Amino acid sequence: EEGPRLIVVANRLPVSAGYASEGKWTLQLSAGGLVSALGGVQGFNTMWVGWPGIFLPAGRERDALTQTLAAKSCVPVFLDAKTVDLYYNGFCNSVLWSLFHYVPLQTDSRLSETRTLQFQWAAYQEANRRFADVLMRHYRVGDVVWVQDYHLMMLPALLKAKSVDMKVGWFLHTPFPSSEIYRALPVREELLRAVLKADLIGFHTYDYARHFVSACTRILGLEGTPDGVEDNGVLTRVAAFPIGMDPSSFATALKRSDVRNNIAQLKKRFAGRKVMLGVDRLDMIKGIPQKLLAFEKFLDEHPEWCDKVLLVQIAVPSRVEVPEYQQLRSMTHEIVGRINGHYGSLTHVPIHHLDRHMTFHELCALYAITDVALVTSLRDGMNLVSYEYVACQAANAGVLVLSEFAGAAQSLGAGAILVNPWNINDMAAAIRNALTMSETERRQRHRQNYMHITAHTSQVWADTFISELNDTHVEAELRT
Ligand code: UDP
Repeated sequence: EEGPRLIVVANRLPVSAGYASEGKWTLQLSAGGLVSALGGVQGFNTMWVGWPGIFLPAGRERDALTQTLAAKSCVPVFLDAKTVDLYYNGFCNSVLWSLFHYVPLQTDSRLSETRTLQFQWAAYQEANRRFADVLMRHYRVGDVVWVQDYHLMMLPALLKAKSVDMKVGWFLHTPFPSSEIYRALPVREELLRAVLKADLIGFHTYDYARHFVSACTRILGLEGTPDGVEDNGVLTRVAAFPIGMDPSSFATALKRSDVRNNIAQLKKRFAGRKVMLGVDRLDMIKGIPQKLLAFEKFLDEHPEWCDKVLLVQIAVPSRVEVPEYQQLRSMTHEIVGRINGHYGSLTHVPIHHLDRHMTFHELCALYAITDVALVTSLRDGMNLVSYEYVACQAANAGVLVLSEFAGAAQSLGAGAILVNPWNINDMAAAIRNALTMSETERRQRHRQNYMHITAHTSQVWADTFISELNDTHVEAELRT
């Protein structure tokens, strides 16, 4: 196709491939705000480069899948199982993801562990080189390349080394931590220098952008300016681009007859009681035990509420093979069991805890019927659940209780009740406040949040980043 292209590079392609029969593959496109936003940037044809999520040796099946993907403008980067384990499970998730969420690096006494980090780092660089090689085979002068997330921090440098004129942007979907946390990373300099080769670097919030600039000044000795980071007169733009979601897809879903039937059923089931909702991946950063303890404290202090309120907690299984996640699950079940055992009755169970994934439409119904949403993340890049809750509450004007440690606190802080999830007393008080708030105040708070999420959609996010990347590149060319 003609016209300028946007090449989105991400660890995973936005499709899942299924084997149909010899030489035939089926593809399921991932739904969601990010995929539609990136596919719909004004004036661009979008192409995706990423790992297809399956292992295939070179040969006919791989070629067949590559062809099937090409029809969806997707280009696969094939990686072997060992590389994925060291690069993705290892360096990306155990090292970068943890540290970026303020979880300190782990170490143990075995020599093999020391070597593991070296191997993980080597695999990370190798995987990034594979992405660069595949991308260079498809790149045409004039294309805009947008690299996504912490999986691909070496990519800006690898790409610019092959083509200095390439327009390269990088966006981080997690927090960027304080430089005091970041500096523990053994390869702290290599990663910063590689990312700085991009023309534009984006974060969800000003705090994350500021942390990144401080890391560059303190660790690399470069100069921080209001616009970014300067190295010998060369500026890399650094800025905040808070992501959003697509409110219209939720509004449309809420009009479907199956969703409306589900809503009516849920309302009947929970009639006479207030319903609170938590929707999280079962992950340490989501503060699920803290949320449960706050609910327990609230019930303890307000026995009159015991049979008048319930909490629906969806805990989507995540990284189930990792021991820390298994421990978190046991701990969560223990607290849920204790609360239900103590505060439940023959007719009422205070916590409905589900270890499962919900479909989009089930989730919409839950968002719509609940009176309070509890988002208690200890760290969270943005947290889209809080946005989605607001999108589904146009009728009810339910209350959002939101952790100040979620990126969303910067954008929904005015309408939400902000809490420190480590302060259980404070959270118990916030629950009471949310359950007893006047309708006038609820509507006023909801209106503020609703205005924000409808103005700052995922589409606006993608359009803004791309246009700024274009401008940055033009300015850089004018300077040279
Ligand atoms: N989600 C879902 N099914 C579920 C629970 C969550 O599809 O059962 C979706 C939810 O709609 C949201 C995403 O998962 O879009 C979670 O995004 P968020 O930014 O809140 O947290 P993350 O999981 O990325 O840390």
